[in-house]
Amino acid sequence: MKIPKSHPRYASLVRRERLVQGWRDGIVVPEGLIAHGRGEAFDYLLGEETPAPALVSEKTAAALLLTADHPVISVNGNVAALAPKETVRLARAVSARLEVNLFHRTEARVARIAKALRAAGARDVLGPRPDARIPGLESKRALCHREGIYSADVVLVPLEDGDRTEALVRMGKRVISIDLNPLSRTSQRASVPVVDELTRALSNMVTFAKELQHHPEEARRIARAYDRAGNLRATLSFLAWRLRSLHGGRNRRRGSRRSDSAST
Ligand code: ATP
Repeated sequence: MKIPKSHPRYASLVRRERLVQGWRDGIVVPEGLIAHGRGEAFDYLLGEETPAPALVSEKTAAALLLTADHPVISVNGNVAALAPKETVRLARAVSARLEVNLFHRTEARVARIAKALRAAGARDVLGPRPDARIPGLESKRALCHREGIYSADVVLVPLEDGDRTEALVRMGKRVISIDLNPLSRTSQRASVPVVDELTRALSNMVTFAKELQHHPEEARRIARAYDRAGNLRATLSFLAWRLRSLHGGRNRRRGSRRSDSAST
């Protein structure tokens, strides 16, 4: 479908089209479409732009990935369909490995996702023929690679479920999530919860990684200073402020935020 660029919700419609195409290509499962709908609802409430606390988490995430000994980015079907280029760019910027990890796992789908990542420029993708398990997980999401997620010290898990986030934290890893729902078990359990839309979050993280690339001391300082509980509280305060503003009948969307906050 050709979406006119002038459409006010162009970016959102493009994302839907990518997911539907991903489903046609056997990369996305129907359950992934449902998960996306939940994310969209939160994005609408958040104003469809990166909230300030998410920027802080994104910078921290870039700092953590850059200073990690063994960073890994976990990729599922929605991530591969929505943002393959951004994912590969981030992996390059922070020297992280990419590993396909699926809840609804079939070897054919793992292979298709790995192929999509390679088409986006990835050279090395883990996923097929896993040789380890994440302890304490029953689902196929436990399957992983010894030289990938299993031995990683920092793992980025975009669009994750709470169980695996918790299991990875239990293994002693620093877990960065990307999830628009600040109330999800994933956001509540991750070491660095990024509450932002996937594509925006990855692009911002690439920018921060490039800024911090040659400043390891600054990156370490940023990672140390992060206050996860304070950040989640700030996100919920922002959401509450948005709802109060909308309830008050004023349009607080794009462009109106700065003057609004100055007047409250
Ligand atoms: P949990 O187990 O963490 O409570 P869940 O059961 O909702 O979460 P999933 O069904 O895997 O877990 O949903 C994935 C999450 O991803 C949802 O919370 C949804 O808000 C979020 N999400 C979906 N699409 C996007 C997107 N494009 N960008 C950011 N977040 C998204």
